Amino acid sequence: MDDDRKELSYKVTCANCGKEALNVKEVYSNIPRFGRTVMVSMLCSNCGYRVFDTVSLEYKGPAKQEFQVKEAKDLRARVIRSTTSTLTIPELGLALRPGPRSEAFITNVEGVLDRFSAIAEQLVSGSEGGVKGRTRTALEKIRLAMEGRVPFTVIIEDEFGNSAILPPEGT
Ligand SMILES: [Zn+2]
Repeated sequence: MDDDRKELSYKVTCANCGKEALNVKEVYSNIPRFGRTVMVSMLCSNCGYRVFDTVSLEYKGPAKQEFQVKEAKDLRARVIRSTTSTLTIPELGLALRPGPRSEAFITNVEGVLDRFSAIAEQLVSGSEGGVKGRTRTALEKIRLAMEGRVPFTVIIEDEFGNSAILPPEGT
């Protein structure tokens, strides 16, 4: 935990249902090697509307970062993904793009693969025929990647500089 961490909570009118029931929480923190960041989460207790995003307070300009995962320890690299970014793993055919349904997260590479695998599992159970087969193959590849058995590249592009990949400490 760092000294710069600060939290702010308040309630405002919900943009979705118009009731004053939107609980906003802002958490300010200083992420080593990335800088000051605010994580904003909003949840409406009336209609369930929710938003989660991370915003860098130190604008560094458009950023494209690539990180090579060569062995299991690289899976610990920290990933800060804002809703304004595109995250791709070309070797595994995976991509997360910005959009109204995109979600921000701060996790590690393993956590990113976890998310993709959860999405793929949903797809497998909700589809049939060729799609099901292809999704199964993708899922198998993600599993091998999570065990550090296939090398791959994580690419994150964010025109607002709100995202980053931070290699594990000591590498
Ligand atoms: Zn609402």
